[in-house]
Amino acid sequence: MKDSNFLKENNARFMWHPMTSPQDSKDNPPKIITGSSGVRITDIDGHSVVDAVGGLWNVNLGYSCQPVKDAITAQLETLPYYSTFRGASNDAAIELSYELGQFFAPDGLSRAFFTSGGSDSVETALRLARQFHKLRGEAGRVKFLSLKKGYHGTHIGGASVNGNANFRTAYEPLLPGCYHIPAPYTYRNLFNETDPERLAQLCAAALEDEIAFQGANTIAAMIMEPILGAGGVIPPHKSFAPMVREICDRHGILLITDEVITAYGRTGAWSGARLWGIQPDMMCTAKAITNGFFPFGAVMLGEKMVAAFEDNPSAKIGHGYTYSGHPVGAAAALACLEEMQRLNVVENAAVRGTQLFEGCLALKERYDVIGDVRGGHGLMTAIELVGDRATKAPIDAVSAGKVQEVAYQSGAMVRVSGANLILSPPLVLTEEDATTILSALDAGLAAL
Ligand SMILES: *Cc1c(COP(=O)(O)O)cnc(C)c1O
Repeated sequence: MKDSNFLKENNARFMWHPMTSPQDSKDNPPKIITGSSGVRITDIDGHSVVDAVGGLWNVNLGYSCQPVKDAITAQLETLPYYSTFRGASNDAAIELSYELGQFFAPDGLSRAFFTSGGSDSVETALRLARQFHKLRGEAGRVKFLSLKKGYHGTHIGGASVNGNANFRTAYEPLLPGCYHIPAPYTYRNLFNETDPERLAQLCAAALEDEIAFQGANTIAAMIMEPILGAGGVIPPHKSFAPMVREICDRHGILLITDEVITAYGRTGAWSGARLWGIQPDMMCTAKAITNGFFPFGAVMLGEKMVAAFEDNPSAKIGHGYTYSGHPVGAAAALACLEEMQRLNVVENAAVRGTQLFEGCLALKERYDVIGDVRGGHGLMTAIELVGDRATKAPIDAVSAGKVQEVAYQSGAMVRVSGANLILSPPLVLTEEDATTILSALDAGLAAL
């Protein structure tokens, strides 16, 4: 490896970073992470912090998880690559499809379509949704519905159903036929509704209204995150997902849950669908499926999809990726599935999630700059910062950046996304680690 002077000198000079401007990366050079252990990361200067970002919502089992590393190296030795396009398969992908079918049986999902990540999984689900209706003689069902503030990756289809202008405006025109429903975001919503249950009803009514306006027989699918993640950790009232499921069913619309974050235990349940007691027709997964150690994803498919595609000899899937069912990714995912269940990470996610959430609520009592704290379902928590509590004016970017930097110097990497500090640490977090995160946040907030 090149020495640290070389790395610092060339930091962000020849690499464009996602989700920021090249100029900003030069002005505020990104942290150079060079090592990791357990739930900690180490930067180029040897500073070690608890990674409250969990990689990027994906390193659920921490950085040292040996069984996953071993599975990857063993697979590299025996079969480092083979495709799963027509006429070929590989042992790891076959075994993984079987295990995922068992794992997601309670969600009513039995088949897997493999991808290289979350955006790929979203794209796959959107495409298969349109094909589903064509196979069933309803070729007019081509539109998609989704929630404002939702995040569905950055491919054109995903960007089109995204509910955040930051990922849309510069890339328009996007896919036609995508329509957005208000999110059940209690802190800010156009209904001025502060009761989560009542707000869920209003958002469900808005969904009904949009379906009536568009015409149900023009709509292919509704895609939504069970708990909105990148949009600022927005958990809806528990009545919301069941209402959406019922509405979709009544109108012949497929329901896709985008569980790129919520699948595999993060919410304190093994899936977001299970958390809310619904069964989706398709579920997008990725991120934690390989603990972040290999780019991989899986779209899980339910009974309706199985019936439409498997009982129809002309249902040819004109979709797939060179890396669909990559044996190294599949081997990593198999090891992850085993390890996450052996460690029962859902239980720890729930317990430590409560600790972190309550700790953040306590910080809100002490710092006026905290407008809202959201979480309470496993290890996904957000602190929304405001410039003024009364008007809810968003905080300026410089102040938010300062909280992040001081928190980092005080022992925890936290993520700033807009006005939100987002906490999504590994699910193997200990009580002490959670305390470290909270005291680092305390120091960061005190610095304002
Ligand atoms: C991260 C994410 C994606 C995109 O996944 P990538 O692996 O970055 O392509 C899609 N949907 C949700 C809900 C996500 O959080």
